[in-house]
Amino acid sequence: IRHSRSPLLANAAFRAAGLDWAMVALEVAPGRGAAAVEGMRSLGLAGLMVTMPHKADVIPALDRLTATARALGAVNSITWEGQDLVGDNTDGAGLVASLRVDHGIEPGDAHCVVLGAGGAARSVVLALAHAGAAEVVVVNRTPERAEVAVALAGRVGRLGTPADVAGADLVVNATSVGMGADPGGEGPMPVEAARLRAGQVVVDLVYQPLETPLLRAAATAGARPVDGLGMLVHQAATSITWWTGRDADLAAMAAGARSV
Ligand code: NAP
Repeated sequence: IRHSRSPLLANAAFRAAGLDWAMVALEVAPGRGAAAVEGMRSLGLAGLMVTMPHKADVIPALDRLTATARALGAVNSITWEGQDLVGDNTDGAGLVASLRVDHGIEPGDAHCVVLGAGGAARSVVLALAHAGAAEVVVVNRTPERAEVAVALAGRVGRLGTPADVAGADLVVNATSVGMGADPGGEGPMPVEAARLRAGQVVVDLVYQPLETPLLRAAATAGARPVDGLGMLVHQAATSITWWTGRDADLAAMAAGARSV
């Protein structure tokens, strides 16, 4: 499948672990997610990574969900536990793990602004609240969707506006704005550059391209830019460890992801 980095990541991890496993990307038509899970049962596949638009559609075909997947109503990883197929959502925890492990950034006690309220944003909001963030402010074009995301953060959640960005320690772009932007060139921004400031950490979940207009503006403002690759690697690593019972080689996976 075009643009799919997941097999590159997973196959790099399998190779590094000396495992004779392979991941392949399979195109599944919209509305056929649950049928694909039935195929997993029949074929005896060890695991599935699930992407849009199937993250909610697969749920009725599963035996159980983790607490995170249940809260989000979205699954990005499926594995066997005994005879049961269990769905998890590793996206948000992947970001938190990447911040801590790859960048030495602790989101606990941070004042956070999440731009966007789609699937990725909701997983990040939940994970930042679980990590102990002091505040998780959600800013989104469509306010009704923002409210759903805010509720996931419980007592630290708040609906915000772009003006909140200036006061944040950690800014996460979880909109798709910047996706497909010309690498190194001008492009649309999810928030005005003037709202960014020195001392902030600015994360862009967009990983196509890795260096987005937002990250360039963050560097110019003296903020610390963090690209979306680490989240991609860590969310996949959690799945791979779940499937294989072995730690995934994060460096091998990152190298695999960068090879496209
Ligand atoms: P999604 O569910 O479709 O949500 C898209 C979000 O972007 C919504 O909040 C939407 O606002 C907002 N948006 C889209 N176009 C906009 C515009 N022109 N102006 C302002 N807001 C706009 O998508 P998703 O699955 O959450 O993915 C979002 C991004 O995260 C994608 O670029 C995806 O590749 C990336 N992602 C990265 C990772 C990683 O591991 N690095 C993991 C997952 C996703 P409305 O609600 O107003 O429509």
